[in-house]
Amino acid sequence: MAPATINHTGSRRLLARMRDVMAGEGADPAKLDRIVTLIAGDLVAEVCSVYVQRAGEVLELFSTHGLAISAVHRTRLRVGEGLVGLIAAQARPLSLDEAQDHPNFAFRPETGEEAFHSFLGVPILRGGRVLGVVAVQNVTPRNYSEEEIETLETVAMVLAELVAGGGLVSRDETRMVDGIGMLPLRMEGMRLNPGLAIGQVVVHEPCIEVRKLVAEDPEAELQRLRLAVDDMHGALDTMLENSEGEHRDILETYRMIAEDAGWLTRIEESVASGLTAEAAVQKVQSDVRARMNQVSDPYLRERVHDLDDLANRLLQHLTGDIHLVGVAEGDSDIILVARSLGPAELMDYDRDRLKGLVLEEGSPTSHATILARAAGIPVVGRVREAFGRIEEGDQVILDGDHGQLFVRPSDDVLTAFMDTMEIRSRRVAAQAALRDEPAITRDGIEVELLINAGVQADMTHFAETGADGVGLYRTEVPFMARATLPNVEDQTALYGRVLDLADGKPVAFRTLDVGGDKLLPYWDPGEEENPAMGWRAVRMSLDRPMLLRHQLRALIHAAAERELKLMFPMVTEVAEYDSLHDLLDMELRRAQKRGVPLPSNLSVGVMLEVPALAFQLEALLPRINFLSVGSNDLFQFLFAADRGTPLLADRYDVLSPPALNFLRSLLLQGNRAGVPISICGEMAGKPLEAMALVALGFRHLSMSPAAVAPVKELIRSMELSPVARYLRSQLKGTDHSLRERLRAFALDHGVAL
Ligand code: PEP
Ligand code: MG
Repeated sequence: MAPATINHTGSRRLLARMRDVMAGEGADPAKLDRIVTLIAGDLVAEVCSVYVQRAGEVLELFSTHGLAISAVHRTRLRVGEGLVGLIAAQARPLSLDEAQDHPNFAFRPETGEEAFHSFLGVPILRGGRVLGVVAVQNVTPRNYSEEEIETLETVAMVLAELVAGGGLVSRDETRMVDGIGMLPLRMEGMRLNPGLAIGQVVVHEPCIEVRKLVAEDPEAELQRLRLAVDDMHGALDTMLENSEGEHRDILETYRMIAEDAGWLTRIEESVASGLTAEAAVQKVQSDVRARMNQVSDPYLRERVHDLDDLANRLLQHLTGDIHLVGVAEGDSDIILVARSLGPAELMDYDRDRLKGLVLEEGSPTSHATILARAAGIPVVGRVREAFGRIEEGDQVILDGDHGQLFVRPSDDVLTAFMDTMEIRSRRVAAQAALRDEPAITRDGIEVELLINAGVQADMTHFAETGADGVGLYRTEVPFMARATLPNVEDQTALYGRVLDLADGKPVAFRTLDVGGDKLLPYWDPGEEENPAMGWRAVRMSLDRPMLLRHQLRALIHAAAERELKLMFPMVTEVAEYDSLHDLLDMELRRAQKRGVPLPSNLSVGVMLEVPALAFQLEALLPRINFLSVGSNDLFQFLFAADRGTPLLADRYDVLSPPALNFLRSLLLQGNRAGVPISICGEMAGKPLEAMALVALGFRHLSMSPAAVAPVKELIRSMELSPVARYLRSQLKGTDHSLRERLRAFALDHGVAL
């Protein structure tokens, strides 16, 4: 859109008239009738109709100027049905010069709309939810201008207030309730951070009621908006100055988003069209939220959450209602329930009282989740309709281990959970006591336990895990958390900090593994049918060698006379590895020529994630210093089962003869060549899987930081030889899974699962 070309006189005039109607006498349905006539007149349309969404996802015609009046309250469309239903489903405007040619057109004879050709409809949005649709129609085929679309979107904002006011349909219908009142309720979501918590719900609803929608003086509103934006930036700067480490990194990104020119321009545009500054912020926030539902890329969704958070902050600065959120009364433990949450908002809450977090949205990579994880707060995300169903003050048990919630639990459920929490905290304390002990089996076999890291918090808490090093540092994570590509200096500083925090223990830096589900906001690789098997990882690096060379340069600089360990992801053939090594050699020569101190020791490894590479180990192993099995990707390719598809999550088991035999063949070849093989996929951090891996012969396991203590406890409790013998006896079988047998064997033999 090119905002500069839009002339706002039309919408200002219309808004002023609508304001008079809203402030005048009469019931809401009568006001709505007057408003549709005003809109039709102003947009020179023969028809203007308003559909309101009712319970059961039905859009009902509530008022019309131009269609048959007898169709009012009779014409109903399901969400997704017809043009109106499509607008509601997509939460997007739709403009057509020939409506009947559209595949979604649904003819409703009672309306008499066959006479009309062109159609423009926009959703009526409030807080990201679709409350209805407003549409205009014309007899002659015509293209609606950008200005007209914008005007209709602006008046939809005012209509949203009318619909939400409760005078057209009961507020309950627009609030989405499920009629279960105060009964106990069990809800499910996604496990974002493990742990158990009990507390009282604080609903994070930074909702500031915006009562005045139409501006008296748009110029003055623009001034108010600019002052509030400056205030907000100032406050964020102060927050930045007072933060460090992980918090600072995240706030920096957030501060950058706050300066997003596109976002601010859209708000200014809405003010120019006649809305008050508050209403303009809310309108843009509503659009952003509605669009968020259509964004599938997890990283981009998170940035949209940041914009949502910023809109709330900006509203606070506009209304002077600062710190409206976050200071809950009393001293009880809090379970925070939020639709989504920005990083700054999370920090507004009292860290000592905040015990758990429930998000209606949210994902493992969201900033709030990352911060909560670093602070050890259990999180359950993607809880559908958490907002409508959980009330402020409700008691909630949050079970982050299983991604579930018990709302208003009965006494027996509560007692059972308190017992579990007690046992759990005793076990956690016992595991913590083993921190400085080695991971050694009862029959004396030592296993190296490493962590997988990616965010700074993993490294700041590294020492607390008692791990022997970092087996996988996912360098793409910091790349993903930035708005622009980090340059060599930035990367050098980052990797240097990681090595400092590792304090002499080895860190295996994995070179950039982007593509697949990991997209960078500043780099669009284009659409792919099958991104997991697409242009990703070293395939990208080899096609864009400077990107990899800069990263290798930064790693060499950062190591400066320290040990440097690096590994390449998704290598598929030996020739590919050779080309990667050539690039590394170029960087080493470059460093040498410039007198840059070289690493004291350099070891180069490869991740085995693509099955084809397993058939070239004879040639590969002599070339490398170590091999690391990326079982997450390896098994998705070996079983031809997408790792991100929930329906396939339990379809095939890594604890099955084909998977374990495959791993065993890798180990045998590695042992023969004298090359250490580690494993760094998720399975390495799961106790039963870890037992099987050690029994197979793995001596280096890399896992999420939280898994180190339980896996160490397990290894110290097991006697390796009988487990190894038993496992070997099962590998020739044809079972779908060995899981239950292994579990029974472990329990019978005193292994601490
Ligand atoms: C893997 O594939 O097992 C792995 C460790 O890499 P990622 O999960 O980052 O793809
Ligand atoms: Mg992988």
